[in-house]
Amino acid sequence: MAFEGLAEKLQETFKKLKGKGKINEKDLKEALREVRLALLEADVNYKVVKDFIAKIKERAVGQEVMESLTPGQQVIKIVNEEMTNLMGGTQSKIIFSSKPPTVIMMTGLQGAGKTTTSGKLGGLLAKQGKNPLLVACDVYRPAAIDQLHVVGESLNIPVYSMGNHHSPVDIAKAGVEYAKANQKDVVIIDTAGRLHIDEELMDELKNIKSSVQPTEILLIVDAMTGQDAVTVAESFNEQLGLDGVVLTKLDGDTRGGAALSVRAVTGKPIKFVGMGEKLTDLEPFYPDRMASRILG
Ligand code: GDP
Repeated sequence: MAFEGLAEKLQETFKKLKGKGKINEKDLKEALREVRLALLEADVNYKVVKDFIAKIKERAVGQEVMESLTPGQQVIKIVNEEMTNLMGGTQSKIIFSSKPPTVIMMTGLQGAGKTTTSGKLGGLLAKQGKNPLLVACDVYRPAAIDQLHVVGESLNIPVYSMGNHHSPVDIAKAGVEYAKANQKDVVIIDTAGRLHIDEELMDELKNIKSSVQPTEILLIVDAMTGQDAVTVAESFNEQLGLDGVVLTKLDGDTRGGAALSVRAVTGKPIKFVGMGEKLTDLEPFYPDRMASRILG
């Protein structure tokens, strides 16, 4: 399960704190040292950890906390609150266009889970009463278009494709027009990925962006890749401008670093998390619930 190591370590530290009754600054320092190490081991970005610990220290060394009846509990409460803030504080939802269709552009590197997540998101929105259309713009990976059709069929969501002899920009534009003509209120565009970020990929994504002016640009990243996921997010955000991140494969034994760093490093929220290979395994991301899950 995700976060197992981190959760275990933090909970152990907190157990010691709770057991103490009164705590002094040395106890606090030791506890924060353990929290710091646990976060670094979980692959949380170094600077994020540093700022996080500094914030907790600033709040925890106050007289009110140290002299309260339950200082250990107070420190834990502060860590919980700051961890929630770190991940964005409150849930960030998809913004729907006031002038449908809402166009959601799905971006990311190959293998991150873009095609699967496009389907999952369509399924989730259909359940909320939306009428989504999936658009197949990955014209380079031969199986990608078929894969999207298979996903669409099993979810009963229509897929718009034009094969792989047209440019992704033309397909995206035609897809949006098709949605308008067929009362589809959400268009989910599955774009191509690459193994690494390159100029060609970014140029193509920028071209799609400027021609269909998406309501939302989401980046799909694989949580298992830890700090790499954060670097990818930083780079996509700088070059393309993101509205949110979807963190996939959080059901695996990821150490959790990406979930804890993405928001702080990029300023962009995690909107959804992928929790498995099934097409129903996509959940909205709640920072407070995630913090509670990690802290026990
Ligand atoms: P793309 O290249 O970005 O379009 O990636 P795909 O959608 O083809 O996904 C790559 C692999 O990751 C597939 O085997 C998916 O089933 C798997 N995958 C996607 N999301 C998740 C997830 O949340 N959890 C797990 N365990 N696997 C996932």
